[in-house]
Amino acid sequence: MSAPPPESERVRTEPVWRAAIEDAPAVAGDDAVGGPAWLPPGFAHPRCGRCDAAMQPFVQLTVREEYGLPFAAGSRLALFMCPTHNDPAEPEILETGRYPESYRTEQGDHFAALLFPPGDFRPSDAGPDRLRPLRLTFARGEQSVAVVKNAAGEVVHESGEETFRLGGTPCWINYRVTAECACGGRLAPLLALPENQGFPKRPETATQPDSFSSDEDCYLLGNVVTVLACDRQCDPRSTLTLCDN
Ligand SMILES: [Zn+2]
Ligand SMILES: [Zn+2]
Repeated sequence: MSAPPPESERVRTEPVWRAAIEDAPAVAGDDAVGGPAWLPPGFAHPRCGRCDAAMQPFVQLTVREEYGLPFAAGSRLALFMCPTHNDPAEPEILETGRYPESYRTEQGDHFAALLFPPGDFRPSDAGPDRLRPLRLTFARGEQSVAVVKNAAGEVVHESGEETFRLGGTPCWINYRVTAECACGGRLAPLLALPENQGFPKRPETATQPDSFSSDEDCYLLGNVVTVLACDRQCDPRSTLTLCDN
């Protein structure tokens, strides 16, 4: 994990919700890593566009009112990735402006970040079961926001910490995105993963290709991951997954 920014470059602190993977089994509908995918009735389990494998659920959570996020309470976020293909997301990075409709499907065909509106969810019986199904919990916390400078020492933007969390200023290392969803909604910070975030795998599961660990899978090759979502929730696929390192 990156060293915290020097005190002199911190500009403020702000509330976030820090995530922890508990050593306790997830049960039906819990916020979880691993376990079955919980999907709206009739919504097809996502499959890899390269090898057609059903994708592995990595993170699933319910958005709660107390998080103070600009999404409807009761919405469900689900992050999926192919059990084999795990290279980074490569969306076209628009720092400003508006994404075309195609951004929802052209960020990569081997992963999916879906934000479903509140409703009925059922467990999918498709999909691999590589990961230990463990409870994911969130605790109120705060993070420091620091300025990022270029080689000339000029401030280029602000960045949050590199942690596993909900909300807060993203960990913008090399760039920052303020572009809008195709519908005109704001792409708002939802979930953040630090570099080499591990997801404990079942002991009997084969080691993930290119993982940094034989005991854990990584998501999108262990990059720093930022998931933004349209604050109008115009479509479950109206999310933007960004990798940085
Ligand atoms: Zn695949
Ligand atoms: Zn939208």
